[in-house]
Amino acid sequence: MEKTRLLGKTPAELKEIALAAGLPGFTGGQIAQWIYGKRVRSIAEMTNISKAGRERLEERYEVGVALPLDKAESVDGTCKYLFPVNGDPGNAVEAVMIPDGDRKTLCVSSQAGCKMGCKFCMTGRQGFHGSLSAADILSQFFGIDEAAELTNTVFMGMGEPLDNWEEVKRAIKVLTADWGFAWSPKRITLSTIGVLPNLKRFLDECKCHLAVSLHNPFPEERFALMPVQKAYPIQDVIALIRQYDFTGQRRVSFEYTMFAGHNDTPRHADALLRLLHGLECRVNLIRFHQIPDFPYGTSPQAAMEAFRDRLARGGVTATIRASRGEDIFAACGLLAGQHNHA
Ligand code: SF4
Repeated sequence: MEKTRLLGKTPAELKEIALAAGLPGFTGGQIAQWIYGKRVRSIAEMTNISKAGRERLEERYEVGVALPLDKAESVDGTCKYLFPVNGDPGNAVEAVMIPDGDRKTLCVSSQAGCKMGCKFCMTGRQGFHGSLSAADILSQFFGIDEAAELTNTVFMGMGEPLDNWEEVKRAIKVLTADWGFAWSPKRITLSTIGVLPNLKRFLDECKCHLAVSLHNPFPEERFALMPVQKAYPIQDVIALIRQYDFTGQRRVSFEYTMFAGHNDTPRHADALLRLLHGLECRVNLIRFHQIPDFPYGTSPQAAMEAFRDRLARGGVTATIRASRGEDIFAACGLLAGQHNHA
């Protein structure tokens, strides 16, 4: 019988599991402490639970931390890990640890492949192979060498996190709850292309930062890059965001990958300024990593700087994002692609 994974369960759910196994209710809190506080990887290690009790739990449950299949380290210290999905090594996802001064940020995946089909994205080209459970999302935090040193996370890896909101929300709960990692939501950023119904849930149900993949301010041009524009136009996404307060602790940023001559012109900068007018936000300008069979090239540095400066003159702060881990392809789904299709 396949065992149920305890990783990702709340103390209340663990209490129910304990009671059903004939153990006292407070054992649920003890199990949570072992998994999230002491980070044990087996029920056998939970030594304040009776041996008989542990054996009863082990009949049906396991902690369920998945360990990485592979690791690649960049010369700049960025580490990319490959994790199996639901125990299947043929269906791997990436987690990328990015060191920066005294910060260590983990970029996590929420789905194997992706349904959204963005034309410039290697993950989108791989098709969709399933959403990750909270246990598989959390394994990326527990299974890496730097697990105890992580300071921040971005849901910016493979997949669209708002196409898997319930499991992502459960993982965020573990990261932020007192009984979990007790992280401030300020340490967490969720990146989305703007799946509207779940974007509203995300904005209502947690306080994490938001990053929106924008890439082009003109509806027809954005649609050519991102099919999601048809169902959830960026204009509607920004109208929703305007209903929330981003003047305090919570921040919203917009991701803008720059394609030479296609979206890096003054006309685009001005349209972007009109779209974001009055919104407290920043724009991250991202250097495009060329992928096969894609018609647009990488914007020259001078064009990126001119775009950034034009936004600044219009009152929007924009930053050119430093590329990290290029030598291990950390910025696109290439390693997972190679692994899955090996
Ligand atoms: Fe999916 Fe994000 Fe790639 Fe679009 S950019 S296909 S949403 S992983």
